[in-house]
Amino acid sequence: MEYKYHLSESEMPRFFYNIVADMPNKPMPPLHPGTREPITPDLLEPLFPRDLILQEVSTERYIEIPEEVRKIYAQWRPTPLFRARNLEKLIDTPARIFYKYEGVSPAGSHKPNTAVAQAFYNKVSGVKGIATETGAGQWGTALAFGCQLFGLDCEVYMVRVSYDQKPYRKVMMNTFGAQVYPSPSDRTEFGRKMLKKDPGSSGSLGIAISEAIEKAAADPKTHYALGSVLNHVLLHQTIIGQESLLQMEKAGHMPDIVVAPFGGGSNFAGIAFPFLHLNFTKNQNIRCIAVEPTSCPKLTRGSFKYDFGDTAGMTPLLPMFTLGHDFMPSAIHAGGLRYHGAGVIVSQLLKDQLIEAVAQNQERCFSAGMDFIRSEGIIPAPEATHAIATVIDEAIQCREEGTPKNILFNLCGHGYFDMGAYADYMAGKLKDAPADEDAIRKSLKTLDALQPPAR
Ligand SMILES: *Cc1c(COP(=O)(O)O)cnc(C)c1O
Repeated sequence: MEYKYHLSESEMPRFFYNIVADMPNKPMPPLHPGTREPITPDLLEPLFPRDLILQEVSTERYIEIPEEVRKIYAQWRPTPLFRARNLEKLIDTPARIFYKYEGVSPAGSHKPNTAVAQAFYNKVSGVKGIATETGAGQWGTALAFGCQLFGLDCEVYMVRVSYDQKPYRKVMMNTFGAQVYPSPSDRTEFGRKMLKKDPGSSGSLGIAISEAIEKAAADPKTHYALGSVLNHVLLHQTIIGQESLLQMEKAGHMPDIVVAPFGGGSNFAGIAFPFLHLNFTKNQNIRCIAVEPTSCPKLTRGSFKYDFGDTAGMTPLLPMFTLGHDFMPSAIHAGGLRYHGAGVIVSQLLKDQLIEAVAQNQERCFSAGMDFIRSEGIIPAPEATHAIATVIDEAIQCREEGTPKNILFNLCGHGYFDMGAYADYMAGKLKDAPADEDAIRKSLKTLDALQPPAR
């Protein structure tokens, strides 16, 4: 009766896996918003170090993880993979449920996998500091941790609603040496513009991204970093799935279904891409399911269109599933999933029906989270409860069909800074807030003017 599948440090993967090498349809190019022509990598140089730009456009299947980065990973990696035997019992399912636990990292989520790599490449490039945004606070914490290790300054724009809901996240970033500001802030032109429009704005990831980019673009010694969406970020997270693959082999049960919550796509990509590699090269048929909140349903109700990655329109135009860069999701507790778009690679995979997407309501997610807490004893991040809700749906279906499938999900972070959210849930105060059809239609309409002319 094994509960835990362990890897030794020497079994830790030495390469990141770049799925672009294996994709049947390669991602479409990002476009310059002015000319609507594909951007050239040099346009990104004020914001990112060269190594990361090269990774962003790479088509090499494997990219070596630098020794310095591997040494830091070894502090908490390889992460454990558990079999959720008590959850299986609770829902009386013949399915075998496994979870990869990324909450053991110093920041409490999967985010340090890319934060440490990004801080390393920025340090090598010679900049003094990095500006970034954070939603739930996980990314800001991870980057603050990474910057501290490499002696870089870290300036974080934190979405207002999370800043107010999770004061200790901010303090945690401060202990790692970062400066944290609520966004919209009065420190940038765009932030001031947003505050003028709505002084009580709860903020959004899109707005916070615009503020961080504005800061970085104005200072040649400061770069910008993103915690999700971009190709190089997804790339760094593939260490999760590569470890999981080895652990599932040890368990003797390869997954039929892989599930992960979806904000911009990095933890989903991290766990799913190494299994999609088996679908592409070994004729496997592993279902990979991304789970988003009904309040921010870009994968299930958005459109595949060119759109900006931020609200102000400072990024290149990216081909992705989006609700439109003006879309304002309601203030749900899974702050990390309140992003209007999806990474370019995952968007192409969904368009080609190589992955699946479902949306879950907030109440249902917390109820699934409580089932998990009471059976497995780990308090999941509100984002991760989205995966758990879908895992339970699939496991119930296994019970009804009498099929013992193997289900693996990414427990991408712990929820120990989210007690306010659990308190609200237990007090019956959480409301479902599915996105309004008119709001989506209106927001998507603004994208018509951004589409490139047909060629
Ligand atoms: C940031 C975050 C997410 C959402 O971002 P992805 O890039 O989609 O992974 C989900 N869960 C946790 C715990 C996070 O910190």
